[in-house]
Amino acid sequence: MKRVTRTIKLKFLQLNKAKQQLFEEMTVEATDLANWLLTLPLPERRKLTTSKVQTRLMSALSNQVIRHTTSDAGKKAKSFKRFPPEVNNQNWVLHKVGTTYSVSFPTIKGTKRVPVEVASSHWQPVLEGILNGTIETGSAKIIKHRNKWYVYVCVTEEVPQVDATNTIGCDRGQNNLAVVAPKNGFGKFFSGKKVMHRRRYFQKRRKQLQEAKKFRALKKWDKKERRWMDAVDHTVSRRIVRFAEYLNADVVVEDLEGCRKTMKQSKKQRGDSAQSRHSWSFYSLEMKLDYKLAMLGLKLVKRPAPYTSKSCSTCGTLGIRERHHFNCPHGHYHNADLNAAKNIAQWDGFACSLDLKRDIAAMAMSDSENGLLGAAPNWMKTQSTGIGD
Ligand SMILES: [Zn+2]
Repeated sequence: MKRVTRTIKLKFLQLNKAKQQLFEEMTVEATDLANWLLTLPLPERRKLTTSKVQTRLMSALSNQVIRHTTSDAGKKAKSFKRFPPEVNNQNWVLHKVGTTYSVSFPTIKGTKRVPVEVASSHWQPVLEGILNGTIETGSAKIIKHRNKWYVYVCVTEEVPQVDATNTIGCDRGQNNLAVVAPKNGFGKFFSGKKVMHRRRYFQKRRKQLQEAKKFRALKKWDKKERRWMDAVDHTVSRRIVRFAEYLNADVVVEDLEGCRKTMKQSKKQRGDSAQSRHSWSFYSLEMKLDYKLAMLGLKLVKRPAPYTSKSCSTCGTLGIRERHHFNCPHGHYHNADLNAAKNIAQWDGFACSLDLKRDIAAMAMSDSENGLLGAAPNWMKTQSTGIGD
């Protein structure tokens, strides 16, 4: 059994003014406490207990603030703009009355029970799992997002370990957002055309707002673009995962971290934000693929990237890629992105992929040893002087 942890976001239902005010006060109180704690040296902070700090927060809440400011992540912080109130798993409880779920937790005015909305149908089985004890819970955070209040809950569930019998490769690129394919058989294409078009539109408006110095609108616009990209990534990853589930396959992707260091973008590409900002989207797509596969017991495998788009997926020799087309010297023709996806899927099948890099490096070495443009290589010179002596 494997354990997968996720955060689920539940919106508070029909929150009245008093409750909103209460949550706001709690946030202010938690932020003040956190910032006060940061003024103390770390060893002193570690010695503090909830009885020794001045706050209106109930001890379960202030304890979490102290814990956070002494944790690895929190101790490095300079100051907090907003510190959302957090309750550890022993101090909040999920209830169900009829069909309505609610969460009870300590506040600054005693323990409150607030109904929550189940916005996504995915969350229903998770909430049932929490109620019957098959799903473990972590801490809960009260967070305001776009003027609405939510509770973010950490949940850990066990997923069955699956032995994948197949692998599918996933190539991410410019023509297509992603192409997934098994070693043999049909693949799936996720076209990048519409996405690129929409990104250019976002870019155009961004430029206008910049020139007009409308910075608040600009910030909103950027957020809007990010939300939209996020939604696209969710859709694409969900469909890839469904395909992987159907073929009982692990998904292999290129390791873009390694790739970005070597891949140089042209000036034109960099200027076009639709293209230059792509890597960000790939990262988010990767994260989403990773946890969605994990939920099914499947894996996301990262492989080093060289030559996936340059070698032929049928015979493994180097070929020529021209935009959408790939031609190999043996006459095999492929769609370029599909070819790359198939190469990624069958990585272990061809020795050429990784060894090729070494061989080419060796060839380059021997080339330089033979001297550039016919000049006598160094070892020959030393040898000839040896003979002359
Ligand atoms: Zn070929």
